[in-house]
Amino acid sequence: MEEQIENLEQIIHIDCQSCGAEMVYDPEKQELLCDHCGDTQALPRGNELVVERSFSEAMQLGAESLGFGMETKVFHCNNCGAETAVKTVEVSFECPFCTSTNINEEARATRVIRPSGVLPFKVPRKDALAAFRIWIKKGLFAPRKLKRLAKLEKIHSVYLPFWTYDAETRSQWSAMAGHYYYVTETYTDSNGNVNTRQVRKTRWVSASGYYEHFFDDVLVLGSHGLNQDFAEKVFPFKLNEVVNYDSRYILGHESEVYQRDVNRGFEVAEDKMDSHIRSAIIREIPGDTYRSLNINTHKSGLTFKHLLLPIWIAAYRYRKKVYRFLVNGQTGKISGKKPVSVGKVILAILLGLAVIVAVAYFAGVFDKALAGMN
Ligand SMILES: [Zn+2]
Ligand SMILES: [Zn+2]
Repeated sequence: MEEQIENLEQIIHIDCQSCGAEMVYDPEKQELLCDHCGDTQALPRGNELVVERSFSEAMQLGAESLGFGMETKVFHCNNCGAETAVKTVEVSFECPFCTSTNINEEARATRVIRPSGVLPFKVPRKDALAAFRIWIKKGLFAPRKLKRLAKLEKIHSVYLPFWTYDAETRSQWSAMAGHYYYVTETYTDSNGNVNTRQVRKTRWVSASGYYEHFFDDVLVLGSHGLNQDFAEKVFPFKLNEVVNYDSRYILGHESEVYQRDVNRGFEVAEDKMDSHIRSAIIREIPGDTYRSLNINTHKSGLTFKHLLLPIWIAAYRYRKKVYRFLVNGQTGKISGKKPVSVGKVILAILLGLAVIVAVAYFAGVFDKALAGMN
């Protein structure tokens, strides 16, 4: 079994058995497709190898479970630093993250952890492109030139490198819980009158507790080309559809090589876990307010998985800045950033002012008219 998987790593292209053309993974059919003659080839959909591994195991991983394979071409972008692997014989390459063609092509054997699972693309290119074309035309403040981009043909199907982390956490916490109460005070105002008023006070009581939580599949992007916050806009992914990693799912697509490794990814996951724990504990503190919150968390049973998840990326440049549009390759959820036309914003503000002035003017006219009638 393991032997067979190793061989699959080496696949960079598969020829169609009917006509000899290069086959690609087709998101619509979810199998290999020959664009030339339409012949298809089914792919395995098992997931028994998509298992969590312990951290200590990651440190001891042997060469046999590392690497995308010697024959994978890794393109290093000299502009943004992203590294993308392409399973194709095609030579020309444009960085999917920044549109740069200033690329170093290296056939490197890097010591990377092999993905245990891949979530196959389901959203076909035509749907991703259509979503981009509709989106780019929308928006009141988008510069007019942007609409020309609706003709754009370049949208990249990229499998992005993700880490998922599991952890069992136990947190001991202590805080001062504040309970509000009100007292009636009498006071003398500036005219010498005696009045009463309600004043809020806080009674502080020490509180403590215990919070336990199991984190399952905290997703951290290992990408260099995209940042986590932006990618999260097209979350969630349905991870129950992840299948055993098989490089045939990448044929005709691209996959980014992670640059945030398993340890640095865990730092991000820990931040996410800690902030989740903190807000859960804050909800448990009795009373109306709190101070001096102290949390001591013990994490155990740390495990991780390395997954490739599908995202369509349309990167475009406007006034030398790169903007990106993303489509979740599984669910079709979209998100993007667009430049704002300063001219259009100023115009909108001026129009708004004009409306206010006009309303004020007509209101004045009517007031006078009414006054004249009386
Ligand atoms: Zn064919
Ligand atoms: Zn780039």
